[in-house]
Amino acid sequence: MTTFIRCGSLFTGREDAARGGQTLGVQDGRITYAGPTGEAPAAGRGDTVLDYGDLFVMPGLHDVHTHLAYGNAKTEEDIDLYQPMEFRAIRGLFFAQKCVAAGYTSICSPGDAGQISLSVRNSINYGLFEGPRVTAAGRYLTTRQGLTDWYPTWIGVPDTSIGRLVTSRDESIEEIRVQAKNGVDCIKVALDGVQRRPNGEFIAAFTQEEIDDIVTESHRQGRKVVVHARGREATLYAARAGVDLIFHAYYLDDECIDAMLESGSAIGPTLTFPRNIVDFTRPSEPAYLKGRIADVQREYEIACENLRKAKKAGIPMMTGTDSGFAVTPYGEWHAREIEIFVNDLGFTPAEALRAATLVTAGFMARGETLGVLEAGRAADFIAVAGSPLEDVSILQDRSRIRHVHIAGKRMAIPERSYDTYKVTDIAWTNWNDLYTQERVTELGILPARKTAEHAS
Ligand SMILES: [Zn+2]
Repeated sequence: MTTFIRCGSLFTGREDAARGGQTLGVQDGRITYAGPTGEAPAAGRGDTVLDYGDLFVMPGLHDVHTHLAYGNAKTEEDIDLYQPMEFRAIRGLFFAQKCVAAGYTSICSPGDAGQISLSVRNSINYGLFEGPRVTAAGRYLTTRQGLTDWYPTWIGVPDTSIGRLVTSRDESIEEIRVQAKNGVDCIKVALDGVQRRPNGEFIAAFTQEEIDDIVTESHRQGRKVVVHARGREATLYAARAGVDLIFHAYYLDDECIDAMLESGSAIGPTLTFPRNIVDFTRPSEPAYLKGRIADVQREYEIACENLRKAKKAGIPMMTGTDSGFAVTPYGEWHAREIEIFVNDLGFTPAEALRAATLVTAGFMARGETLGVLEAGRAADFIAVAGSPLEDVSILQDRSRIRHVHIAGKRMAIPERSYDTYKVTDIAWTNWNDLYTQERVTELGILPARKTAEHAS
């Protein structure tokens, strides 16, 4: 039994243009035909024909940076401490489905507490629930750098955290083997964090030799490696070590680009996260009050300038958003990255769509079967009202994502809202301000007191 999809226009992901009058044939979850309707095999008895004649059909979208364990968190403590692992896994599944509703058929969860993302992956793969294809990591390998080792040294890294503190080469290797045995698809490393030298430069969290060993052992186990590397040093170490995917890479230079060209590392800039921080954070919020917004804006501009160079040099760029924070809720902003690729990194719309499909599929588990609509590949596709080739921003409008198919099957994700306070917002943060007498007066809450001279 074959399902034939009559497409208003078809963007296969191979070419720059979409074509009219095309048909997709799908059997057993795979594409059997993609081409002109006139040359398609005739539909027989028992076959199904779906009429998407007024829609734009394209490969399902890929987000390589969606943390299923985070739960739309406002604080790192929300992520690590307050909910049991079991609840976080169920919540992760619910939010994975939100990604599907937004047109994302494939996501990578690069760094999670416990075995959350691989449990979500398995429950979907085993047919218990509908959801996206999930490429799963375990806990980040981290050192004393601040990223996923948030808490003071006298607290350490709790077992429920998204980080796993490794203090030697042997501990790194052991953790990789544990995660491989548990069944992760990739190993995540916090290759730098928030520690800087006095001159402001980010310090790589591992030495070149340490990251070399981590990559060698992960690859020996058949797992890809993805790292968080904002600074130049970590980006360079990652590229030299042959890390498969480098997140951020905001301070990359020519030496980093040369090393990436040599090793074949890709970049996942994840610019939606800083863009949303700048655009959404309000003056009453801690991030604003701590002066973070101006810093993030400055870094964003530096990043775009450097990333444009990397793009020009031919470094593959993958789309991801760091979804899972309060500024990047699941299912909301994934496609903003595509718009940023066009507006700020100099991609054409077709290039940006290819980045979000074929290129990003390159990191996903069994990615060689994804990302393009051609015979033999998985039948993961979406049908959109309007042409993203004319305006990529329409992909952020969920009302335009009319149908989402994964392995040929049309997804039916219920529109369900949830109690945002109960689900995530449970840290014991009560106030955003410091209520001195002066501040209370300034805010007009209480009238100014008379000064002592006037009182006597
Ligand atoms: Zn991340």
